[in-house]
Amino acid sequence: MTDDAARFWSKVDVRGPNECWNWKAGRFTTGYGAFSFRGRAWHAPRVAYTLAKGEIPDGKLVMHSCDNPLCCNPAHISAGTNADNSADMAAKGRACQGDDHWTRQRPEDLPHGADVVGAVLDANLVKHIRAEYAKGCGSDQIAEELGINKSTVHRAATGKTWKHIEMDPAHVPLPGEIRRKSFDRTYARGENASHAVVTEEIVRAIRAEYKPGYGELTRLSDKYGIKVCTIDAIVKRRNWKWLN
Ligand SMILES: [Zn+2]
Repeated sequence: MTDDAARFWSKVDVRGPNECWNWKAGRFTTGYGAFSFRGRAWHAPRVAYTLAKGEIPDGKLVMHSCDNPLCCNPAHISAGTNADNSADMAAKGRACQGDDHWTRQRPEDLPHGADVVGAVLDANLVKHIRAEYAKGCGSDQIAEELGINKSTVHRAATGKTWKHIEMDPAHVPLPGEIRRKSFDRTYARGENASHAVVTEEIVRAIRAEYKPGYGELTRLSDKYGIKVCTIDAIVKRRNWKWLN
């Protein structure tokens, strides 16, 4: 087993082959498990699929046969299109579910407030946070994406905590105020900004293509080679606000 695989499965409640294997560690604010993998934060079920079955085919989403977003049992996870996922949800009638549904069987595993914001950092997440911060993501945005308390992220990003984690000199974050200004400069003025990574055309394409749902930000991030936090800001219109 690779180091990544060992680290990943240690955060999963591995049970019998037919049971749901729930994610035990940090979560995104959306409730999905967050795992630092290949240099960025991944949804846990996508990592489970990748480790157990290989690369997720381009443009495919990871779907659960059990409807349990925390489940990382490869036997319950498949790759499909957005349309497959909608058809699957419609067929299962997600709105009316009985007492054998996982939310009734194990209500303690439902994502909820304290668990979501209380996600614990690990060394790899700290490295991920610092890299994103150095690239210009605000700590607020990183916190939102990871489902981690803002001040926890800010303190980790600026090296007030996790001092023993070695930083790549190329990725040393600037002090908060300077970073904030440079972030505004980068993202507030769109294409003309000195470090703009997107064009009007790409923003329009992303907004047209975006359908709220699990894995969508990650899919668009992979497709356009743009950071998840930037995609998030584009679709939520925190940047490029003037563009319809
Ligand atoms: Zn399951």
